[in-house]
Amino acid sequence: MKKQLIIITGASSGIGEATAQAFLEKGYPLLLLARRLERLEKFKRDNVLIKKVDVTDLESLKKAIVEAEEKFGPAHCLVNNAGLAHPGLISEQDPKEWKQMFDVNVMGVLNGFHAVLPGMIKRKSGTIINISSVAGKKAFPQFAAYCGTKFAVHAISEGVRQEVAPHNVRVITVAPGVVATEIFDKVHSEKAKKEMSKIQQESGSLGPEAIADSILYVYEQKESTCIREIVITPTSQEL
Ligand code: NDP
Repeated sequence: MKKQLIIITGASSGIGEATAQAFLEKGYPLLLLARRLERLEKFKRDNVLIKKVDVTDLESLKKAIVEAEEKFGPAHCLVNNAGLAHPGLISEQDPKEWKQMFDVNVMGVLNGFHAVLPGMIKRKSGTIINISSVAGKKAFPQFAAYCGTKFAVHAISEGVRQEVAPHNVRVITVAPGVVATEIFDKVHSEKAKKEMSKIQQESGSLGPEAIADSILYVYEQKESTCIREIVITPTSQEL
């Protein structure tokens, strides 16, 4: 069967980058999105379109998808991966950090749904894979706001899954545990950074390729099979 268009947000590092590599190796046409375009350049091929898109900007997200669909045909899978974490105590955190997390982790996912669902429903075909987290299943101190965003991803995914199931569209939630990526290098608070490296030392961490493999696996099931959720962590992670 002809391989169809896969869209990956946050493809410039970590899990998104590893997922782009995994789908690239299988020969899928790709639309890869991130704000750091220079980090996407290495993926450029005839079957790969790269675009500088901030997922909070719905119009630019839609525009990039229209362009990719003109080139490669309709979107068959969207991996809503772009996200960030600002750990910290709620009593001490800058509210701007909460807003940025909710804008990207929650509104970004909703924007992704909005951009591709109408077409998928019409064609009665498509898959949306949302990258949530173990933090979307249980809450932890220092991560209250981040957990809030990821609980939202789980809730929204399940609600939308039920909405689109009759249209043969799959919604899948992938919830990783600790993964070795840049995510915690971007943390503002030194205290939270220390806390994170402690968690990483205690839990160990998966490579982003392990999550990419799961994403590819759930996507490549028959379209009549929906693996609704995967929780994937290092074996040694207790949390
Ligand atoms: P990275 O920091 O390595 O990657 C985050 C990606 O998101 C980057 O490509 C970044 O690209 C992109 N991104 C961030 N903000 C925006 C934005 N506004 N618009 C578009 N792209 C954006 O982290 P991970 O790979 O670890 O994170 C990927 C996902 O996995 C996130 O949703 C995260 O919450 C989740 N996750 C991560 C875990 C971990 O332990 N690492 C555990 C559980 C879940 P750019 O800056 O170029 O725009």
